[in-house]
Amino acid sequence: MTVRRIMGLETEYGISVPGDPMANPMFLSGQVISVYAAAQGIRSNQSSWDYAFEDPLRDARGWQLDRLSADPSQLTDIEDPTLANVVLTNGARYYVDHAHPEYSSPEVTLPRDAVIWDRAGDAIALESVRLLASRPGQPPVNLYKNNADGKGQSYGTHENYLMPRRTAFPDIVRHLIPFFVTRQVVCGAGRVGIGVDSRGAGYQISQRADFFETEVGLETTLKRPIINTRDEPHAVADRYRRLHVIIGDANLLDVAGLLKVGTTSLVLGMIEDGHLTEDWSIRRPVAALQTVSHDPTLRATVELVDGRVMTGLDVQWLYLEAAKRWLELRGDDPEPEATTEVMTLWEDVLTRLGHDVMSCAGMLDWVTKLQLLEGFRARDGLAWDDHRLAAVDIQWADVRPEKGLVHRLRDRGRTVDLVTPEQVRAAQTTPPEDTRAWFRGSCVRRFGSEVFSASWDSVVFDVPGHASLQRVPILEPERGTRAQVGTLLEESADVTALLRGLATPD
Ligand code: ATP
Ligand code: MG
Ligand code: MG
Repeated sequence: MTVRRIMGLETEYGISVPGDPMANPMFLSGQVISVYAAAQGIRSNQSSWDYAFEDPLRDARGWQLDRLSADPSQLTDIEDPTLANVVLTNGARYYVDHAHPEYSSPEVTLPRDAVIWDRAGDAIALESVRLLASRPGQPPVNLYKNNADGKGQSYGTHENYLMPRRTAFPDIVRHLIPFFVTRQVVCGAGRVGIGVDSRGAGYQISQRADFFETEVGLETTLKRPIINTRDEPHAVADRYRRLHVIIGDANLLDVAGLLKVGTTSLVLGMIEDGHLTEDWSIRRPVAALQTVSHDPTLRATVELVDGRVMTGLDVQWLYLEAAKRWLELRGDDPEPEATTEVMTLWEDVLTRLGHDVMSCAGMLDWVTKLQLLEGFRARDGLAWDDHRLAAVDIQWADVRPEKGLVHRLRDRGRTVDLVTPEQVRAAQTTPPEDTRAWFRGSCVRRFGSEVFSASWDSVVFDVPGHASLQRVPILEPERGTRAQVGTLLEESADVTALLRGLATPD
């Protein structure tokens, strides 16, 4: 694989009720999700994700149907709104996680599509907030696409990348740590305040850097690791790994978002091909992560294990040059345009950062936010610890276009956009065509009332007139595309016809 691979982005939105710090975020998150699901006509209990069905060990290439012994009438609906957990018609999951509403995008294969379905999540968050606000007597709940509340809490944005299981994990760790320590110069979202509680005065490149404590580990909310070892492939387990990346920031600007997933996918491709042979390990990587983050002038250096001293930008150049050589050698890219877009933007951004950081305004989140903050500082003579700057940082990420500062810059044409509002709007309700998300989302759209539950790797139907539930496994992420099942889904008059069609060999 080159830049093309199965991937998905999870975003936990910050939630607050302005003027009511005691509001219960878990309950409100549940309301945010339920109100959106109801407006879409989606049963809010439809994704009872955690029912423990025994796992089918079968050849996932066939559409073998599964009759579950459970009697649907014995499985009660989940009524508790704090457990809201739904699958949307675009194939995404929308649920309450750690007292935040989380949107987990459907699986896509290209960086541009990752941006489109990630921004679809922002549009869904906005619509949820508006729907809730229109309810009489409802407190004004609001959502923010950021990763730190400025008071010591951080919440995650996770990237997920499909990799072949055979790739050696120690290689992934060795080559990804220096990349992850330094990629923030491109895809950091910027933050006012230094330290987890933001008590230090200043501005830093990344939202998340201060919250990381260790190099490799299983945790995601405590002792956060640069490399997360969670291993739940949601796919054929002996063939695939789902690399769960917790170190990124949520992006609001397209160029940064595209480069975050695009360059990471390229680096994974090089690791899979054994192309990276040099060891660029950084001494004390957690401290280095914070050193790089704390210096928006990009002059701070880190020390490599081999003794070289480099800036974060220098390390990014190592990976970019390696990717150029790798792509020349490979020459069999299935998506040359997508790869070229990522490579061209990557080089453009690194070059600009080397000459004049501010020339990346409109492209990179941390630079654009910094430019805005510097404007306020100059105009009103504000020091970095002025609370008004912390407020600007939060307002930056407000999902409401009339408030969110990114939206206002976009309206004035001051952002470099790679996708159109029409693409984002369509992606709110339509799944990507080239992954199993097409099957999942289309089942919810066409047969929502018969979908008993849906997950990344299966759709379970409660078919009228049947005593047992019927599960369709979708363990191959590239199976269930529009090309494969689009016609069948449209032509099936009911679920019975769909299941009959799936059981017929194609
Ligand atoms: P959490 O971290 O919130 O506890 P999680 O990481 O297990 O949960 P979800 O929130 O359910 O997962 O989101 C999974 C994400 O991974 C989605 O964005 C989805 O598109 C993507 N995804 C699902 N299966 C795969 C796969 N096999 N390879 C890569 N990405 C996948
Ligand atoms: Mg999640
Ligand atoms: Mg996750």
